[in-house]
Amino acid sequence: MPREGWDALVRGDDCSICADIGKAENRFGFRVAELEVSNLMLARSQYARGYCLLTYREHATDLHLLPQGKFEAFNRDLVRAGTATARVFKADKMNYQLLGNLAPHLHRHVLPRYYGDAASGRPMNPDIGKRVQKRADYDYLIAELQAELGYTQLLA
Ligand SMILES: [Zn+2]
Repeated sequence: MPREGWDALVRGDDCSICADIGKAENRFGFRVAELEVSNLMLARSQYARGYCLLTYREHATDLHLLPQGKFEAFNRDLVRAGTATARVFKADKMNYQLLGNLAPHLHRHVLPRYYGDAASGRPMNPDIGKRVQKRADYDYLIAELQAELGYTQLLA
């Protein structure tokens, strides 16, 4: 990517994550809940069973650049999302990745891990292959996550 393109993404110009905030569905996945300062999405590609994305609702690129109090709020959302995900998917361990090298808009990959899974002893690699499910299976999992979150807000 040319430097100008990267700088534009950092500024939030043409940020695909900003463009998708608030959508019930996008190319990545399906909205589960709007939390305090971030949205939880269930990934279309379940390369790790239960893979979700927690996206900060405003354009920000790094944790250290968040306004006072927002870091704590984002972490509260993360713990809440991780707890619900771990319970629904009966994870043995949770991984939380914060990268942003392709899309410099603050988001965390919430990855349940299982004893003996495909990347035992290592970080999960999304290149191991997409696992796409039937829409009804996503809907079931979204409802389970919402129930675990105590999320009762009606989603459009
Ligand atoms: Zn953005």
